[in-house]
Amino acid sequence: MTVHAFETVLYERPEPHVARIVMNRPEARNAQDLRMTYDLNAAMDRAAQDDEVKVVIVAGADPHFSAGHDLRDPGTLRLGRDRPAVSTWGAYDAEGAEGLFAREQEIYLQMTRRWRDLPKPTIAAVQGRCIAGGLMLAWACDLIVASEDASFVDPVVAMGVCGVEWFLHPWELGPRKAKELLFMAEAWSAREAMAFGMVNRVVPRDALADTVLAMARRIAQMPAFALKMTKEAVNRSVDAMGQRTATDTVFGLHQLCHAHNRQRFGMIVDPSGLPEAVRGKAVKR
Ligand code: ZN
Repeated sequence: MTVHAFETVLYERPEPHVARIVMNRPEARNAQDLRMTYDLNAAMDRAAQDDEVKVVIVAGADPHFSAGHDLRDPGTLRLGRDRPAVSTWGAYDAEGAEGLFAREQEIYLQMTRRWRDLPKPTIAAVQGRCIAGGLMLAWACDLIVASEDASFVDPVVAMGVCGVEWFLHPWELGPRKAKELLFMAEAWSAREAMAFGMVNRVVPRDALADTVLAMARRIAQMPAFALKMTKEAVNRSVDAMGQRTATDTVFGLHQLCHAHNRQRFGMIVDPSGLPEAVRGKAVKR
């Protein structure tokens, strides 16, 4: 197996036609800081442009898939300068809501959509905790396979924000369960997630990697162009149902929440809802 190490992710080729991108900040529960966001993006591009790769696996180094976006990230990367921007918004450093709107368009909304539209099948292998921004990454994949111990949660309503930036909850969970889980900030289990239709398969933790690899192997037997067209067919159908319009609209509400919190608390979230681990350490944007 060949392995290429980016700063925060591993790019592996476990067998012919399969690439595996592994988030590799286990000490930070694979929290996605800006380095990881752009490493993930570079790894996705590498997989997309390698004609030998037909299926892409997205995984996290044990013990947890991802704790979400890194709220302690000081943001030392200059957006649009240190890495090529994926969006055309610009003015990422502007004062006030202008800059934050542009930043979140770039690193969350446009980035996640870009991964969602990667023209090859992607499979998320999820174990342990999958929180907020971790959910966005898993949702961006075509298939989700979870281990029995996996749990999913979007707790950001407690932080004064109406859900994560890419608001797929009603699509992934159904509207009623989406409201319950957002209002109550409760985690849902892998089996619950499968019952909602959000997860394809649930397997024992020690069978996760092999199950996902076997599924990738099976998919890789299909013609590459038919796979690409099939993914495009499903994604465009969902877009035609209004998903893209809905997520754009909700992104505006999300930004209103950030603007409100900044006026009210001097930071983009309500600090009373921050997890214990980051309270007092979260970056005050
Ligand atoms: Zn946000």
